Amino acid sequence: MAYRFVDNYREKGARKQLVHHLEKRGIQDKAVLKAIGKVPRHFFFDETFWNQAYRDIAFPIGDGQTISQPYTVAYQSELLHVKKGDRVLEIGTGSGYQTCILLELGAEVFTIERQEALYNRTVVVLPYMGYKPHFFLGDGSKGIPEHAPYDKIIVTAGAPFVPEVMLGQLKLGGLLVIPVGDEKEQKMVTILRVGENDFERIELDTFRFVPLVGDKAW
Ligand code: SAM
Repeated sequence: MAYRFVDNYREKGARKQLVHHLEKRGIQDKAVLKAIGKVPRHFFFDETFWNQAYRDIAFPIGDGQTISQPYTVAYQSELLHVKKGDRVLEIGTGSGYQTCILLELGAEVFTIERQEALYNRTVVVLPYMGYKPHFFLGDGSKGIPEHAPYDKIIVTAGAPFVPEVMLGQLKLGGLLVIPVGDEKEQKMVTILRVGENDFERIELDTFRFVPLVGDKAW
């Protein structure tokens, strides 16, 4: 694929329209909207498909995976309530778009991807764009225990259940956002760690993600 990193008036305008659209769909967090307005989503697309980059749709990024729909990225980001300096673990780097949004929100991001081709691309492209998370290649269904605990964990693939190992990697007061369900659809679930062994679980809207594949997943 041929990638080009030019952000001209057409893409900037389309990005503004996307922000308005997300506001209309109910995204309220100003910091999230600002981040969406800043990150050039078309940089994650082959130039042939730039006209698709600011539509509110998921899009194939190769290796059978997708860049998440902007609404989904905004929805999960809003739920995370990222504070500056939060240590955030992201499971499923994919294109790296969500990673950039988390960095714009001020997080220190630890991001893991199981597919080598996607990992190889993001480790080059994101720093080129000025975004510097900590990159990992491997099975994120077990979290990344070496760098735990985290303030927040976000899973960007659909899980069959909540992997318990992830809960143990949350700080007290830490939050996990994870889509849980079958292959067809998943409920967005948030889990807040309120004590050593106490967790508060909330089930929210329905989404459709690619599957979380791994030791503690599908
Ligand atoms: N948020 C990403 C973006 O904006 O491009 C979208 C990610 S895509 C919907 C889900 C990603 O999770 C895929 O790239 C997939 O390879 C990855 N994935 C699935 N299971 C995984 C696992 N166990 N560990 C790490 N990554 C995984």
